[in-house]
Amino acid sequence: MHGAVDVLVVGAGPTGLALACDLARRGVRAHVVEAAARPFPGSRGKGLQPRTQEVLDDLGVMAALQAAGGPFPPMQTWRDGRRQGEWRLIEQDPDAPASRYPGPWMVPQWRTQEILRDRFLALGGSVEYGTRFTSLHQTDRHVLAELAHPDGSRRTLTVPYLVGADGGRSTVRESLGVAMKGGADDLRPSLVADVRVRDLDRDHWHIWPDAPGGPLLLCPLPGTDDFQLSARTDIEDPEPAPEAVRALIAARTHLPADAVTDVGWVSGYRPRTALAERFREGRVLLAGDAAHVHPPGGGQGLNIGVQDAYNLGWKLGQVIRHHAPPALLDSYEAERQPAAAAVLELSTRLYRAGRRPEGGSAEARERGRVTHQLSAHYRDSTLSTETRERLSPAAAQAGDRAPDLPCATPDGGTRRLFELLKGPHFTLLAVGCPPPGTPSDIRTHQVTDCPLADELGRGLFLIRPDGHIGLATRDPAYLARYLAKVGFQVPAAL
Ligand SMILES: Cc1cc2nc3c(=O)[nH]c(=O)nc-3n(C[C@H](O)[C@H](O)[C@H](O)COP(=O)(O)OP(=O)(O)OC[C@H]3O[C@@H](n4cnc5c(N)ncnc54)[C@H](O)[C@@H]3O)c2cc1C
Repeated sequence: MHGAVDVLVVGAGPTGLALACDLARRGVRAHVVEAAARPFPGSRGKGLQPRTQEVLDDLGVMAALQAAGGPFPPMQTWRDGRRQGEWRLIEQDPDAPASRYPGPWMVPQWRTQEILRDRFLALGGSVEYGTRFTSLHQTDRHVLAELAHPDGSRRTLTVPYLVGADGGRSTVRESLGVAMKGGADDLRPSLVADVRVRDLDRDHWHIWPDAPGGPLLLCPLPGTDDFQLSARTDIEDPEPAPEAVRALIAARTHLPADAVTDVGWVSGYRPRTALAERFREGRVLLAGDAAHVHPPGGGQGLNIGVQDAYNLGWKLGQVIRHHAPPALLDSYEAERQPAAAAVLELSTRLYRAGRRPEGGSAEARERGRVTHQLSAHYRDSTLSTETRERLSPAAAQAGDRAPDLPCATPDGGTRRLFELLKGPHFTLLAVGCPPPGTPSDIRTHQVTDCPLADELGRGLFLIRPDGHIGLATRDPAYLARYLAKVGFQVPAAL
């Protein structure tokens, strides 16, 4: 770590690292501390949902993730040692909003974290492994964070803001005295492990649905020789021995124990659902699993943490770099807490339902529809200003993710909107009208005669850096008010 820090991020999981990348690319000095001595080795959150891929594209890591990953393979059911047929767990939702990334993409979590960490380091950031956050004290100007090192030494870091991205057992959350509101705690324990298995093809996600003791699944992990094992069990041990993992596979599949040639990372856990009562306390914010813990149903946990980071990064950037009113940070909890509550309900429902071959295409389509996260919106947020009247509920409006549709550019070419949005800036679209003047760090595009213009209709659309429409209006007078709210110095002429 060199020099002053604007934001101390506690936890180098996917949430903390995604936030650190977003902060660094907007010139906010972020430093990450991580209790573990080395990067996380497990594959656990392996499915990147379409909306998360869009976010990761904007953060500059999607090309590396595409090279490291692969599409979800078809499921293969086994009974009595015989293949019973292929089926799809997820089918793409034909009614989903247009996206460059229409389906889920599989990357082991350790690899996603490695790619995010490398991106953050390339952006000039720093990650300190083996450094544990232990407690904090905050004033109205600073946060004083106590950090402990493996040699027993301690130091205090004084920073303007601190983000607890330190997972489900968050010490930051505990230090704030923020309680978790519980949900389902009656879910059966699960075991997840990374294993190598002989004599099993890598073109399918294998499932033994009727195994004694409960279904067992083995999913080939792209870019590795591993399979991810997942099974409901009654094993409460958080780190079962390799022999227990081999015995489980032998008991529930046709494979003998010695077909398991290697057992790597293993985790036994009891899924919980819980939501933090607050996501912000003064200068300290909570994100990812520190704010909401989920069962793995529907593969949402990692995804929603990355989306928290994307919502928070630009707001911290506006407050720290542009002197936006700190009240802007209140909108983080207002927007993300309901989003997390909806995902908790969804992942609990999908975890209870399990993965069933007999569900067929209708179930696969439904799973695709509810998990892509492309329709998540902030229409009820105080940061969403919609002044047009008599809109149909289906119309793109303030609070929605902006539609990623083709857009005519002044050079006569066509680009998708998200290509124009890429980067940490706000974007103003003037659709079918002349663009008003704006501060220089807002990018403005005049848009006519293209699918994007047809979808939005005439008006001014201010797109937030996280791709959501902040303001939709036909009256330019609203623009100055909105820009002041998010921290821009607005010229008197505007
Ligand atoms: C066994 C298991 C299986 C899962 N399977 C899936 C799945 O299939 N699909 C899916 O989408 N999600 C899955 N999840 C959930 C997903 O992995 C998490 O939602 C995701 O990792 C959350 O990211 P995060 O960065 O918020 O927290 P974490 O990944 O938990 O990262 C928090 C980091 O903070 C560090 N830390 C903790 N305390 C301190 C401290 N005091 N000081 C400094 N650092 C600290 C930790 O070491 C850790 O590296 C699973 C979770 C578990 C536990």
